[in-house]
Amino acid sequence: MSETEQYDVLIVGAGHAGAQAAIVLRQRGYAGSIALLGDEPSLPYERPPLSKEYLSGEKPFERMLLRPATFWADRSITLLPGRTVGEVAPQAHRVTTADGTGVAYGHLVWATGGSPRRLTCAGHDLAGVHGVRTRADVDRMIAELPLVERVVVIGGGYIGLEAAAVLTRLGKHVTVLEAQDRVLARVAGEPLSRFCEAEHRAHGVDLRTGTAASCIEAADGAACGVRLADGEILPCQMVIVGIGIVPAVALLLAAGAGGGPEASNGVTVDAYCRTTLPDIFAIGDCAAHANAFADGRVIRLESVQNANDQATIVAKTLTGAPEHYHAVPWFWSNQYDLKLQTVGLSAGYDATVLRGDPADRSFSLVYLKAGRVIALDCVNRVRDYVQGRALVTGSARIDPVLLADTAVELKALGLAAVG
Ligand code: FAD
Repeated sequence: MSETEQYDVLIVGAGHAGAQAAIVLRQRGYAGSIALLGDEPSLPYERPPLSKEYLSGEKPFERMLLRPATFWADRSITLLPGRTVGEVAPQAHRVTTADGTGVAYGHLVWATGGSPRRLTCAGHDLAGVHGVRTRADVDRMIAELPLVERVVVIGGGYIGLEAAAVLTRLGKHVTVLEAQDRVLARVAGEPLSRFCEAEHRAHGVDLRTGTAASCIEAADGAACGVRLADGEILPCQMVIVGIGIVPAVALLLAAGAGGGPEASNGVTVDAYCRTTLPDIFAIGDCAAHANAFADGRVIRLESVQNANDQATIVAKTLTGAPEHYHAVPWFWSNQYDLKLQTVGLSAGYDATVLRGDPADRSFSLVYLKAGRVIALDCVNRVRDYVQGRALVTGSARIDPVLLADTAVELKALGLAAVG
């Protein structure tokens, strides 16, 4: 094996978390060598537009770059694109890339995200069946779109719904299949799910809940339809699968790191984002951590916020100012002209308060647990989102009647919070 490279900090995965770790290290004056190694061929870019403005053609790839090429060169951050790590040797402080090259490190930051979870049914690997994770995934979809009239989206989560909204606007006939009894069931309360379902239907989407695909039908080696459990076949030329991700941690687990199914299939990290392996951190979508906004439960978050904030925690530790991860989670999604914004984590809520009327297409859903505000989902209501953050961070206990009163601003309620 050749061993030609060595870096003080080697970051594996050049997505949101990896790029941010390199950026913040330099911002904080870190003087050692830094390499950002990733298997995608391009400069680090924003992933959220992939299912939104990039798919719709409204945002060119150049405007999705996290930083221009000169930024990395000016800060002596070595980019190693198009390279895949295939093995981690923690005791030797070395990784090996797919071409057999060894890369030695002082500290390793594992920021590999995950890959789209695949269907297991017959036809899952046919041409025309797509996951949505990388620029290459979406470029393949865009190339096929001129010959596509009908699309079936499997999975009514954020990515599936965003893709459905874009493709409907592009004039495609879109069917969304959600196995559970409502869309967004994993992340949102029922009023938001029902609102989103109604919006999609109003835009012409054939949205079916409680409906699972049993296989993908093939013609000439490509998908030509989706068969449902009751035997109905939905003809289509494209299938989009949005059923979550599988975190890319197999190599770290094989190297002895803690994690696996009990850690939401991620790699376990402590409050400083350290794995159980020496000098190896993990951040972003792949990192299972005890989250204060989930009552300390070990979870993975799949958001730009979490990627950026965990990257900052690692940079602080490596520059001698260690700090616990304690960032309030936030997330957004755009569908049609709707701006959905979430702050906090709603899992485990025992009550909700509707603030505003969904019929106005501007409302917030406030989640309470034991009388305290734990999260808000805001639809076209930026002010609630901004002001609600303080209620979440302070676990504010507020009379639900007041919370529901849109005449009262949330920031005023924060002051009135008791206990
Ligand atoms: P990633 O950004 O996925 O980066 C990981 C990188 O590591 C990838 O380039 C991967 O190819 C690479 N890699 C993996 N294994 C290896 C290996 N062995 N060797 C080398 N490289 C490797 N979040 C929001 O907050 N709001 C949104 O609106 C939103 N929309 C989204 C829309 C889409 C279509 C997608 C896919 C995600 C969206 N997200 C959104 C989630 C957000 O993009 C992710 O949470 C974020 O990208 C996570 O950053 P990461 O660095 O952990 O992983």
